[in-house]
Amino acid sequence: MRILIVDDSLEVRNLLQYIMTGLGHAVVGHAKDGVEAVEMALLHQPDVITMDIHMPRMNGIEAIRALEAEGCPSRIIVITGESEIIAKIIEMKLKHVVKCLAKPFSLAEITRTLDNIVRKCS
Ligand SMILES: [Mg+2]
Repeated sequence: MRILIVDDSLEVRNLLQYIMTGLGHAVVGHAKDGVEAVEMALLHQPDVITMDIHMPRMNGIEAIRALEAEGCPSRIIVITGESEIIAKIIEMKLKHVVKCLAKPFSLAEITRTLDNIVRKCS
């Protein structure tokens, strides 16, 4: 799958890229805030977006809403360090959010989540 990685931490972005390319996916780009995330998602039309929540300029929830408003079909995996926010995101029933993971995430969780998306798409 083609994946866009969104996180304000360079370390997290690099770790996710390492994991995803190792699993055979193509990383189409990195974004470090919600504004870049929306621009890059509309430009690259990725199959999957990994979305951090706490970021400067525009947070992940605002970015998800903006993408929804633009009709962006990418599936979104929320990856956040604030585990309290996960329950709120689930309550919001955001159409394209397929999974919420808490940091620190495990290789197994990422692998399972991406495998499930591949299975649903094929
Ligand atoms: Mg962050």
